[in-house]
Amino acid sequence: MLIQDALHNIQSTLPKEVKLVAVSKTKPQSDILTVYNAGHKIFGENKVQELCAKYEALPKDIEWHLIGHLQKNKVKYVVPFVQLIHGVDNIDLYNEIAKRASAINKKVNILLQVYIADETTKFGFNPEDLTQAFQKGLLEHPNVNICGLMGMATNTNDETKIHQEFTSLHNYFNKLKTISCTQSTHFTTLSMGMSGDYKIALKCGSNLVRIGSSIFGNR
Ligand SMILES: *Cc1c(COP(=O)(O)O)cnc(C)c1O
Repeated sequence: MLIQDALHNIQSTLPKEVKLVAVSKTKPQSDILTVYNAGHKIFGENKVQELCAKYEALPKDIEWHLIGHLQKNKVKYVVPFVQLIHGVDNIDLYNEIAKRASAINKKVNILLQVYIADETTKFGFNPEDLTQAFQKGLLEHPNVNICGLMGMATNTNDETKIHQEFTSLHNYFNKLKTISCTQSTHFTTLSMGMSGDYKIALKCGSNLVRIGSSIFGNR
């Protein structure tokens, strides 16, 4: 299927209020330009080096999201231009983002990644630790906007299980919203769902989906 047709197919299944991040990791710049020229401007990458190279080469009105695991020593490369960092999964990383953001007098938008899957390979805070971090005031810095949460479900065909995991994150998201220190004006994004499970994620309250292979083809 043509990339632009695949994009339109996905777009037609998304409610208006749901944001689509086109995940372009491993794909050439020409594929990104195809999607860009079809009117879509939000792209996600999971490797800092690849993200920076594509940022340099491609149109400057692209909104770049970093979706994968981020190492502390690479924060400085993305903070100057990234629109949203999805995978902030520990306090050290949060602090490094805050430090680098304040050094260049910028506000950086992040999502906190929460561990919801039943796999040891997935990153994220456990909810109890994250609630405590909020309550202790460890996640308050003027240069960081905590825009919401991100989570990945277990990689399984068991739709009931995926549904349960996404629902648990949605419930937790709603609970955190009632804690005043989540800076309620920013805390609005729930990033859940990729090519294989985004339809379930939408039923469970996702308002941002990260879709790669269903747009660009298999990697
Ligand atoms: C690769 C990736 C996606 C997109 O995966 P697809 O199955 O290709 O849609 C979404 N989120 C993260 C964090 C990823 O690394």
